[in-house]
Amino acid sequence: MAGEPQADCLFCKIVAGDVPATVVRETATTVAFRDINPQAPSHVLVIPRVHYPDAASLAEAEPETAADVLREAGAVAAQEKVADSGYRVIFNTGTGAGQTVFHAHAHVLGGRGLAWPPG
Ligand code: AMP
Ligand code: ZN
Repeated sequence: MAGEPQADCLFCKIVAGDVPATVVRETATTVAFRDINPQAPSHVLVIPRVHYPDAASLAEAEPETAADVLREAGAVAAQEKVADSGYRVIFNTGTGAGQTVFHAHAHVLGGRGLAWPPG
């Protein structure tokens, strides 16, 4: 069924507690944890508890949960104290864009200058 946990999905395992993660925030619908390979002084991933392969398919199926992910991205930025200096929220979508984990996730990056365009 859509949104159900996938046995072979790393982020479903983090949601289930079967793989450890440094969790910084949790809600009924989301989990936020530190990226294992940070690309900025603050680099947190916000994921929905439900499994969808990317942000667009999450928004299509469960728009309220997609909104929860975005709201939590802002809450993470505030908690990490990067909201005032500026931060970036990224949804890599597809292998050509660098997506490696096919469970929707927002990267929240901050704490350094963030060039634009990002490349
Ligand atoms: P993406 O490449 O956009 O799919 O993002 C996947 C992110 O997950 C990468 O930035 C990885 O560094 C990160 N990552 C992979 N495994 C883990 C893990 N066990 N805990 C935390 N972050 C992870
Ligand atoms: Zn998953």
